[in-house]
Amino acid sequence: MTVPPHDYNGRVAFVTGAASGIGRATALAFARAGAQVALADLSAEGLAETARLIAADGAHQALTLTCDVTNEHDVQAAVGKTVEDFGRIDAVFNNAGIEQPVGPATGITKSDWDRIIGVSLTGAFLCMKAQIPHMVRQGGGAIVNVSSGAGVKGFKGQAAYAAAKHGVIGLTKSAALDYATDNVRINAVCPGIIETEMIRRFGDTRPGGHEGLIADEPIGRLGKPEEVASAVLWLCSDGGAFTTGTALVVDGGQTT
Ligand code: NAD
Repeated sequence: MTVPPHDYNGRVAFVTGAASGIGRATALAFARAGAQVALADLSAEGLAETARLIAADGAHQALTLTCDVTNEHDVQAAVGKTVEDFGRIDAVFNNAGIEQPVGPATGITKSDWDRIIGVSLTGAFLCMKAQIPHMVRQGGGAIVNVSSGAGVKGFKGQAAYAAAKHGVIGLTKSAALDYATDNVRINAVCPGIIETEMIRRFGDTRPGGHEGLIADEPIGRLGKPEEVASAVLWLCSDGGAFTTGTALVVDGGQTT
């Protein structure tokens, strides 16, 4: 599936969690739209594959940045290198995240809690802390943070994940107000159940398995990573110029 056309020529995009799933599809979509793209992830191998796919498309050569979004030094270095190599940072997708093993709230270990909140929520915070000053200096930019259907409603067995993803929306909305007059737009996207490695792992452990996941989607199928990428590219585009502080649900009706 391809993402509908946008023009990102002359712009620089930065994507975390770019080694897999939704992040890879969004990085590819930015590159196909003409952006120079910086790819950040823990997985050097996965990044190399995303960069290969971008090169195979004949797009600008991507910058690969091995980076743990929970580590402030890594994040500052990745964003700094992007601006050093490409001169600016216009469109950002802070997307890295990890799933929670299904289980009741009191069964969550402190270390799992810290990891899940650390990657999804603290990671988005650290990324924005590094990205926004460059955007303010250059006169603007657009950030999309990844939340989830679990950012707008509770899910049984998902207390830590839902807490992280609700937190991403609070962070997004508040920061959007802080930087609205700097022409820095900050939004969130809330995917439903999207066919990625994460969902394949999650479906293996969840009661009802993959059939149960499809049954949770009123539209009768799982979403595709490109369908989330499409929303991210629109939010970061000039077409989204009056949209800031929103949490856009892309979920086949799952949370309706
Ligand atoms: P995925 O597992 O396919 O990809 C996630 C990527 O994040 C991986 O490449 C992984 O290496 C990277 N990552 C994990 N921890 C990291 C860290 N500390 N630093 C840097 N990179 C790290 O997952 P996906 O399904 O593509 O999910 C992407 C995002 O979308 C996640 O935040 C997820 O919570 C969210 N989301 C996914 C779904 C879904 O159904 N797939 C639904 C709602 C929200």
